[in-house]
Amino acid sequence: MSRFVILMYHMISEPITAAEVKYACPPRQFEKHIQMLLNNGFTPVSIESVENYYSQNTALPENSFLITLDDGFEDNYLNAFPVFKRYNIPALIYLATGSLGKTNQWMSQPTFTERKMLSWKQIKEMASQGIDFGSHTVSHPRLTEFDDDRVGKELSESKQIIEQQLGQECKHFAYPYGLLTEKTRELVAQAGFKTACSTRSGFNNIERDPLILHRIEVFGNDPAWKLKQKIKFGSNKAGLFFPLKYYFTRLLARLG
Ligand SMILES: [Zn+2]
Repeated sequence: MSRFVILMYHMISEPITAAEVKYACPPRQFEKHIQMLLNNGFTPVSIESVENYYSQNTALPENSFLITLDDGFEDNYLNAFPVFKRYNIPALIYLATGSLGKTNQWMSQPTFTERKMLSWKQIKEMASQGIDFGSHTVSHPRLTEFDDDRVGKELSESKQIIEQQLGQECKHFAYPYGLLTEKTRELVAQAGFKTACSTRSGFNNIERDPLILHRIEVFGNDPAWKLKQKIKFGSNKAGLFFPLKYYFTRLLARLG
């Protein structure tokens, strides 16, 4: 059965605090990830290919991967965009629209440092060169703590401004913090989104709900071999002994 992975990144820059190590991938490391993927027979695909796979059952290439970046940090333009251009890789950036042109105010400081977010000018330049954009709400809230009206507003307002600014339909969404309920999913569908990414780990295949897609979280300090292993096993966990544990658990499951 054909399956594909969606990789989740946040910042593409040097981490400054300890907490950022997980979320900030140094540009050199990011490029090594891309090189590893391309050198190992993985094929980059766009969100459009993923959408068509679900809506029209069009096949995806073997070993497909989609790169997503959450939140809309300015470093995506400064450090990731040149890499996407160099290797001709499509990518999807999820925007918390209320923070654009400002900073990451929703993140607690000093655990995280204040970082600049993308401007519409940067977003438009990237959009004109093949980068896709999705909604990540307006204010990056925990949607499961909001009533339906407020959730609906977060969804429709962010969708609308992206559509106004880019002049095309905004069809893709990512749940902040990966938080969702059945109801949240329903509201995302009602708002008109065609795909939505969670933070649940694992592969995706045709049986996966396109409004609850799974992703592999790439940590900023993952060496390329670790990323390779995460993709092989469809897991956020990786390490020298992980394959042994994985096969042993599968063996036990088969015996049981
Ligand atoms: Zn986020």
